[in-house]
Amino acid sequence: MTAWLSVDTDDIVHFPSNRGHPNRSSQYMDEWKTSGYRASEKLLQATDRFIQWVQDGPEITVFLIAEQLDCPDFRIRMEKLLQMPNIVFGCHGWGHRCWSAWPEDIESFSAMLSTSRDRISDFAGNSWRPRFRAPAGYIAKWMAAPLAAAGFNLDSSINPSRWVNRKMEGDWMSVKQSIEGIGIIEVPWLTSVIGPACGPALSLFPFAIFAKRAWRKHSLRITSNPENEKCVALYWHLLDHNRKEGNWNPPISKSQ
Ligand SMILES: [Zn+2]
Repeated sequence: MTAWLSVDTDDIVHFPSNRGHPNRSSQYMDEWKTSGYRASEKLLQATDRFIQWVQDGPEITVFLIAEQLDCPDFRIRMEKLLQMPNIVFGCHGWGHRCWSAWPEDIESFSAMLSTSRDRISDFAGNSWRPRFRAPAGYIAKWMAAPLAAAGFNLDSSINPSRWVNRKMEGDWMSVKQSIEGIGIIEVPWLTSVIGPACGPALSLFPFAIFAKRAWRKHSLRITSNPENEKCVALYWHLLDHNRKEGNWNPPISKSQ
């Protein structure tokens, strides 16, 4: 199976324990629109390592959180990535509100999508792709129509594993059907025989052992064209590049 690579730019403030979730976050988020974001030192360091790692590498979609363009230090790094022919940008929301965990709110979600899309696409120019990953990784059925209306043509927010069925309305298969039913391409995450294999599962025992094996096997062929080629999503976070004292790399076949 062909792999499509992407990375999420989440900072520490975006962890659901800090912000964005209705009952798991220490800061209550009544408004989606945030301002004055400044990147943590950890994220800046991890981004520098990612920039080094990705030079002359495979094509990667960077799922950017729109508010992060408020931070001059982070923006400079994104401008470096923008110079690279193998980097394109997608949207990971504005301030990492976990929309699927809140009650349905089509109006605010639509406003957030168009504002974030305009900001990231203005920044990225020809490197913009109308691709979306839901903050916190779970998408709800009601989010499909606003996504299509805002011009997004690809979503990658589905973890096709029985572990997440209870977090989604019904099951991931019916959520996938609502997204595809409206004409959006869904690229689900890679899973291993025991469960999730992307994002946090890459460093969470026991998933990590199986995840690494599955990544190596599936990353022999990498596509830059997930809209037109059947593929599976392999994704990680910029902050992962701080693991192992800064020597962590995604376990794709290239880095072996
Ligand atoms: Zn995220």
